[in-house]
Amino acid sequence: MSIVLEKLSAELNTNSPLIIAGPCSAESQQQLLSTAYSLKEIGIKIFRAGIWKPRTRPNSFEGVGEIGLEWLKNVSLETNMKIMTEVANPNHLDDILKNDIDMIWIGARTTGNPFAVQEIANALKGVDIPVFVKNPLNEDLNLWIGAIERFHNSDIKQILAIHRGFFAYGSQKYRNIPQWQIPVELNRIMPSIPLLCDPSHIAGHRSLVKEVSQTALDLNFDGLMIESHINPSEALSDKDQQLPTNELKKLLSNLILRENNISDNDVAVSLKGLRSEIDSLDLDLIEILIKRMTIAQKIGLKKKDNGITILQPERWEYILKDRVLNGKKGGLSNEFLILLLRAIHQESINIQTDIMNRNL
Ligand code: PEP
Ligand code: MN
Repeated sequence: MSIVLEKLSAELNTNSPLIIAGPCSAESQQQLLSTAYSLKEIGIKIFRAGIWKPRTRPNSFEGVGEIGLEWLKNVSLETNMKIMTEVANPNHLDDILKNDIDMIWIGARTTGNPFAVQEIANALKGVDIPVFVKNPLNEDLNLWIGAIERFHNSDIKQILAIHRGFFAYGSQKYRNIPQWQIPVELNRIMPSIPLLCDPSHIAGHRSLVKEVSQTALDLNFDGLMIESHINPSEALSDKDQQLPTNELKKLLSNLILRENNISDNDVAVSLKGLRSEIDSLDLDLIEILIKRMTIAQKIGLKKKDNGITILQPERWEYILKDRVLNGKKGGLSNEFLILLLRAIHQESINIQTDIMNRNL
């Protein structure tokens, strides 16, 4: 376990996973207090609520502003829970520090803006509070890493990351697509940064929060930040995805905590066998891709010699349809097949472009 997580868990007297819950937004003193009391009863120790809400369109509820900090402070005094809110600029930070807020998170829209992140990081110098950095809206791991580095360079000791999914145009199952390989890669590159998941903003609907939470834990995430409202149907923001306390309680008690270490010897041996099969199949895959690209090269030369363009749309259309059909018969998902074929096709195009441009 990372030092940051160990410190936080010890301070809160909890075992991992770290659970943060609370409404999307602070709406009134009454709403905050009743939500907090009810969450405290089910064992939640960190309470979240947004005070300034970054909304896509103006003229929607944009948060209650500074007055909400007093309400939050009251929650802390009344319930003894740790409280956290979103900071998007140094002015927010000033107000937050005046009101003894325990922890802050950097929202997805702010992480995507290096100027804003740098300003907050500068203003945070010398302040020792946990800073949770959400991923940016777009699928840019380096932008996420860059924000973490800016806080690190300001000597912030307690930095944590929150995966909240990525924006995708059009409708799909989840409000924000998880792209799990991105947070998993963040964790590989920065193993000392604890990684939490915000299943609420990924799911977009309360009925999907449980499955996203379970997947996160199965991928070794260190904790969850879940939106919960005393009366979700009346919520002023994100009403579809917030859970009432009884549903959150049920979700938490049904989560399966699987072991990261393999302690049973028989299991270890059989996993080892299966993994060596995977290793050798992966080598075969790479071998085949190399062969395929060699042929793409030959095709590129032929096209060049005969003045033919690289992209033949009917051929690409045919490949896509044919391979997806075959792959689906074997149980592979449409989404995976398309991603895979696009990557292969792009590499072929790159190789052929290289050939076309050689000795121009
Ligand atoms: C939030 O947590 O309420 C929020 C606005 O999150 P995000 O920045 O992930 O959209
Ligand atoms: Mn929200």
